[in-house]
Amino acid sequence: MTEPHSYLSPEELQAWRLSLQEANRNNIFCYCRRCHREWVASDQVACLCGSKDVEYIACWQFPDG
Ligand SMILES: [Zn+2]
Repeated sequence: MTEPHSYLSPEELQAWRLSLQEANRNNIFCYCRRCHREWVASDQVACLCGSKDVEYIACWQFPDG
């Protein structure tokens, strides 16, 4: 058995993980529990209505389809 990324050096592996984290950071699905607004942001920000009761879901957590 061959691990898919076993040929990468530790530095390359870390860069690969950082690029994944970067993608996740720029794709956060936000849902305001107060005004039910939905939007996608690059950071965990408060809603425009001023509420901080916002649910944050990284887009990669959504199942396909
Ligand atoms: Zn809101």
